[in-house]
Amino acid sequence: MSMNTHGRPTQPVAANADGAASFSGNRGLDLQEPLIFELGSNTRTGVDLSDEKITKSYLGGLERTQPINLPGLSEPEVVRHFTRLSRKNYAIDMGIFALGSCTMKHNPRLNEKMARLPGFGDIHPLQPQSSVQGALQLMHTLAHWLTTLTGMPAVAMSPKAGAHGELCGLMAIRAALVARGNARQVVLCPESAHGTNPATAAFCGYRVEDIPANAKGRVDLEALKARLGPDVAAIMLTNPNTCGMFEPDIKAIADAVHAAGAFFYCDGANYNALVGKVRPGDLGVDAMHINLHKTFSTPHGGGGPGSGPVVFSEALAPFAPIPTVIKNADGYHLIEEENAESQTTFGRMVAFHGQMGMFVRALTYMMSHGADGLMQVAEDAVLNANYILASLKDVMTAPYEGPCMHEALFDDSFLKGTGVTTLDFAKGMIDEGFHPMTMYFPLVVHGAMLIEPTETESKATLDQFIHSLRGLAKAAVDGDANRFTGAPYFAPLARLDETRAARQPILSYKEPEMLQAAE
Ligand SMILES: *Cc1c(COP(=O)(O)O)cnc(C)c1O
Repeated sequence: MSMNTHGRPTQPVAANADGAASFSGNRGLDLQEPLIFELGSNTRTGVDLSDEKITKSYLGGLERTQPINLPGLSEPEVVRHFTRLSRKNYAIDMGIFALGSCTMKHNPRLNEKMARLPGFGDIHPLQPQSSVQGALQLMHTLAHWLTTLTGMPAVAMSPKAGAHGELCGLMAIRAALVARGNARQVVLCPESAHGTNPATAAFCGYRVEDIPANAKGRVDLEALKARLGPDVAAIMLTNPNTCGMFEPDIKAIADAVHAAGAFFYCDGANYNALVGKVRPGDLGVDAMHINLHKTFSTPHGGGGPGSGPVVFSEALAPFAPIPTVIKNADGYHLIEEENAESQTTFGRMVAFHGQMGMFVRALTYMMSHGADGLMQVAEDAVLNANYILASLKDVMTAPYEGPCMHEALFDDSFLKGTGVTTLDFAKGMIDEGFHPMTMYFPLVVHGAMLIEPTETESKATLDQFIHSLRGLAKAAVDGDANRFTGAPYFAPLARLDETRAARQPILSYKEPEMLQAAE
């Protein structure tokens, strides 16, 4: 395969049955796509502007002296370029997206319709509150659903993602501890924690210590009790945990943490497994973020911004951030400043009030499901994951005994001696037309593969997915390593140097001549 000066292949992989390339370089409707700079030229333009004579410059000598070198293209060329690129994306609207821990569920179209209503979509956060009463009411109603579902008395709506919610929770915990006279030094995170947990604690100035997992993939309660002491500010625990298992000792964990004067932060990213079934407030949780973009179906990843409201216990509620929405006799109001009602708040995390578009989508999802429907969300999510676990565990290997919650965890023992790694297996899935599951996470099992189907997939879709994975697992064990080690064969590009791309990203385009001159 020959490469251009940017290290990108210029020759397509063989396209037809005889192994010959097509004349165009395309593979059927899978079109080759160069960079827009490679497509464009300085001699073309999509607009006609008259040569306006500039008589006076206001740039104070900072005028550009060299050509700007933006690619010149016609309008259809630009539209086609970005449309072709968009078709290379895998998306939840194209197929099952079984990334464990990410809860990639279908985003109902009704949510989109509601979010585009002018009263929600066309308003500005600096408008007078009297002119946006409907939007404030929506925030107030959503807050009510969140506190009711979780059994927690207060909620901060403004955090803009799960990790931002973690920061919000820990800042409230720190403020509560400081009010008691000592912020303490340590935050405990179980071995299986999501990477954002220790990162948040460190960002908040805490030292992070691991709590080991036991043989069943759960928190080792005795190890936790032994470590608790007057220097521990909080534990950050995910339930169900990132192995997809319920923590059966959760009440005992909460009691032990509270007895040591510490707080219990629950990472609520996996709330999809519990919504409507269990109230985290009843488990002794002090703070928990809820990923609206996971549990309540608002788009995420490239599809939209996240939203991570945080619910608080009685003990932490006074320290929650502003703003909050309250209701009194003459309507809905935003509390935006510290005042008598919010004296001990730790302050403000974002410029305005949170992700309004996501609030509308999440509340639409809740109201269209109703209380009974939300309970069924959790039941069906757990059922789908167990269907996958039960259908694959004779050909793949599950590290822990028994049923799972909303996601099914496998390790790489079934690949032992086959010459196929977890990464190869994932690349093989791309040839089957599936986005791979979450790989190498959680770290507590070797070569992890974590599959979360969500409740929104039909049995027919799950059966197709299972059929392909069974085929791949058998092929690996039967010695067909080639199927994997060169995969993906059917993607336009394969096995890019992902580490180098992350470590040394090339973010600006240089003409090939400029690159050669630099060498
Ligand atoms: C997704 C996730 C997070 C982080 O949420 P973001 O919205 O991506 O910041 C934290 N913990 C767990 C377990 C998650 O799955």
